[in-house]
Amino acid sequence: MRIYEVEYNAETPIILSKPSVTNVFQNSYKYLPGSTIRGAILTYLKRNNHDIKEEMVKPSMLFHPAFPVKDDLVFKPAQVLLYKCKLCNAYKPLNPYEVNLDNFAIPFKCDNNHPFALKHIGGELIAVKDGKVVDEYKKPKYAIFDSVGINRVTASSDVNLLYTYIALINAKYKGLIVTNDSCKFDLKELLDNEVIFVGKGINRGFGCLRVKIKEKSKHDIIKKYNRLNDKIVLKALSPVFNINIIDNGLVTNHEFKIKSSKCKILSNGPIDVSGFSIVSNTEKVKITALKEGSLLITNNISEDDIVDILLNGIGPFACSGFNIVEVLDYDSPY
Ligand SMILES: [Zn+2]
Repeated sequence: MRIYEVEYNAETPIILSKPSVTNVFQNSYKYLPGSTIRGAILTYLKRNNHDIKEEMVKPSMLFHPAFPVKDDLVFKPAQVLLYKCKLCNAYKPLNPYEVNLDNFAIPFKCDNNHPFALKHIGGELIAVKDGKVVDEYKKPKYAIFDSVGINRVTASSDVNLLYTYIALINAKYKGLIVTNDSCKFDLKELLDNEVIFVGKGINRGFGCLRVKIKEKSKHDIIKKYNRLNDKIVLKALSPVFNINIIDNGLVTNHEFKIKSSKCKILSNGPIDVSGFSIVSNTEKVKITALKEGSLLITNNISEDDIVDILLNGIGPFACSGFNIVEVLDYDSPY
């Protein structure tokens, strides 16, 4: 197994948008999904004449989502039990290691005693510095571009085809890529300091990301965790789901078993996810998952199992950046 820590620096504006029925494309993702990174890197390898057929069928590379970086802080989804006061902006987390999960009261006052002013911010991107929440991810910078469609027959601009792009500028992201022993690509050698392309408008110059790669060891990534009564709380960094195959097809459920221990779940709500085939250029089957920030609580897992979970995910399609979790820190439960 090899672990790469990857930085993605945008050199041009970025538009990661959901399919649009209008001519307006707006960046609608807060972070770089693993599936987007996977598509961009496989495309890069293919264009540079590497054989990726085997990788498409039997993935040996696992792409974690990459989260925005600002002033050296990485902004990740907040856990579901984090609240913020609308009046004084103070944060109030409930610590899932400490509350009785079967019967806990949702707070209605902040620490400055403002009643009924708390809003739930689970899933929003936050960073923690010196034990304090820095802020929800500060409004990213956008720029608006209009672009004229070109009529292929007359090779001139087409008045009826005006596209508007609302694009993210100065974006910078950080995430992991983990490869297993059957992987034949040395990603540092192949990709360090190269550019990959993501999102809409690539042929108009958008979506250019310069990749910087450092190889890491397990010990760089995983730290010792402070456990309470053997409890381990995992926070979803991506949508998480489980799939069962039954006679009628696929069934998704949210009954997670981690290393054969059953999990208790604190959901941050449902989200529909689907992959995007770079072969057929279409969306794949939609699956209902639990949103980022959801918590999975389990116990009795060994340090080795935790390492495995953190690097390799807890469910299907981890290679495309789904089912990626981290351990919620007991001392900093955000
Ligand atoms: Zn307050």
